[in-house]
Amino acid sequence: MKLLIFGPPGSGKGTYSSRIEDRIDVKHISTGDIFRSAVKGNTDLGKKVKEYLDSGELVPDELVNKVVKERLEGTDDFILDGYPRTVEQAKFLDGFMDVDAIIVLDVTDEITIERLSARRVCKECGEVFHRLFNKPKKEGVCDKCGGELYHRDDDKPSVIRDRIKTYENMSEPVIEYFEGKIPFVINRCRKADAPIDKMVDGIISQLEEKDILS
Ligand code: ADP
Ligand code: ZN
Repeated sequence: MKLLIFGPPGSGKGTYSSRIEDRIDVKHISTGDIFRSAVKGNTDLGKKVKEYLDSGELVPDELVNKVVKERLEGTDDFILDGYPRTVEQAKFLDGFMDVDAIIVLDVTDEITIERLSARRVCKECGEVFHRLFNKPKKEGVCDKCGGELYHRDDDKPSVIRDRIKTYENMSEPVIEYFEGKIPFVINRCRKADAPIDKMVDGIISQLEEKDILS
């Protein structure tokens, strides 16, 4: 099964994807994680994308498209988090792959700002935590792999605002692009502390109802 998960920064894409991966047979693939790990390893890709990640800007389409196409090659079951983020990327994906559904996370700006400022991410595996609503068992340590948790530079208030603007201008039109083309699963959340498992249950039951999960 080929799923996309889409929504503004802080909407829960990474958190939900990781739980969905534990429950159905899909691999969580996150472009943000791919880029952050390249920056950390100081690879050629990492050198090219570092300044975009630091400033919260989008990495150029051509480069992202190439990375994603290579990553998806030979992978049939995935939940893709962080891509496509522009209409150009959506067209490119459409050109080489049929996806089964798009999960759209509908949240307010207040929620995303609150969540990002308290978000902590594992340096090793990318697992996402929240200082209040999704606490790790041991402070500062990843439940999944024992890695160290940190506050991403692009989760600081000044950059958050720019990322939300970029989302509205560049990414939101992707929803329109897919309308009528593929099934939509819409997850609406109006509370920053909405229980994660309940949200994931809602997504999975919609996938079942729409016969996407068979
Ligand atoms: P979030 O969803 O919290 O904004 P991500 O981890 O998905 O964060 O992405 C972090 C950064 O990686 C983005 O701000 C951007 O610089 C880069 N990036 C990730 N995916 C894409 C993409 N599809 N196109 C362009 N840039 C991307
Ligand atoms: Zn970890």
